[in-house]
Amino acid sequence: MIRFEQVGKRYPDGTTAVDGLDFEVAEGELVTLVGPSGCGKTTTMMMVNRLIEPTTGRILVDGEDIAGVDPVRLRRRIGYVIQQVGLFPHRTVLDNTATVPALIGWKRGRARARAAELLELVGLDPATYGPRYPDQLSGGQRQRVGVARALAADPPVLLMDEPFGAVDPVVREQLQDEFLRMQATVRKTVLLVTHDIEEAVRLGDRIAVYGKGRIEQYDTPGAVLGTPATPYVAGFVGADRGLKRLSVTVVEADDLEQPVVVRTAESAERAAGRLRAAGARWGVVLDAGGDLHGWVGADELALAGRGGTVGDLAHRMNAWVAVGASLKQAFGVMLQHDAGWVAVLDGARFLGVLTPAKLHEALRRSVDADAQGVTRGEVAFDSVADV
Ligand code: ADP
Ligand code: MG
Repeated sequence: MIRFEQVGKRYPDGTTAVDGLDFEVAEGELVTLVGPSGCGKTTTMMMVNRLIEPTTGRILVDGEDIAGVDPVRLRRRIGYVIQQVGLFPHRTVLDNTATVPALIGWKRGRARARAAELLELVGLDPATYGPRYPDQLSGGQRQRVGVARALAADPPVLLMDEPFGAVDPVVREQLQDEFLRMQATVRKTVLLVTHDIEEAVRLGDRIAVYGKGRIEQYDTPGAVLGTPATPYVAGFVGADRGLKRLSVTVVEADDLEQPVVVRTAESAERAAGRLRAAGARWGVVLDAGGDLHGWVGADELALAGRGGTVGDLAHRMNAWVAVGASLKQAFGVMLQHDAGWVAVLDGARFLGVLTPAKLHEALRRSVDADAQGVTRGEVAFDSVADV
């Protein structure tokens, strides 16, 4: 979809901002460009919509060398989101969002209907926020409007330059989550610039790690973290690599342990007997449909005596995550609730529990899988270099 062929940029003052960029972004893929300040990320991005022209090499979008494409036409196919959003202060949020469709000649009604749809998509109720002005929004909300506006004309490509850089860490994570959810629906081809390796890892299908003016490694997040290509990448990725990997490894059904399960309708006496027989100090409580109801302790059941049911005694279970959540989220929930494990749900259906030991196993599994993946990647790279 986007292809860089030996692209370089030397500014008139002699600064070489980037050199020898040679990589490809597949359609529907989200690639993050990460590296320290001044390494050439913004330059790379601005060459794609021709705000900057390369001095060597060429860039193809959809197979077409963009040097021959009228920049205005090109930019209609490429949404652009920057950190200082650049909303028009005297226009409402709805009109700001409708800017591009209006510019390219959509009828006012259609442009505004589209804008409302996009505000909804980025989590802003159009009835509430549409009529407001940018200075009546928080930083995070403004950033959402920036994303909605970039998507308004439905461009297949999206360029995002530090889009979440200006907001605090909590809002930032929220925006990242929302963006990932949205990307799962709209499937744009995205280039996203960040100087934060965590953000790069969290968002990217693939990551380009920049050294000074060059890409040092272009690979999946798991491979970059697990097997950095150069000492520079290893240093940039940091010493707490294992922890960072937590945020890219997801909880799978195979990682789970199966504790003793009791049912809400079951008598306390019977449930106490079953827990005792299994040597368990507690059990997970499910309702008749198999949905999670909570948990219950063996001692409480034993003390309850005759007549009571498990449902009467069960506690709410707050320590849970959805299957597919990251290990980091699961670990966070564990710490937050001071729990020795977290329940894993598929919708409301209980799948099992994740314990610290299983969490570590899952982490190791991910490291091993990537080590193998990278060996294959190197073979492929060699054969390309031979051509
Ligand atoms: P990043 O986005 O990674 O921080 P940039 O692409 O903005 O990096 O800049 C890369 C290098 O090019 C830096 O050394 C920067 O100072 C230089 N640079 C950027 N824009 C210009 C310009 N217009 N003229 C000269 N040098 C520039
Ligand atoms: Mg920059």
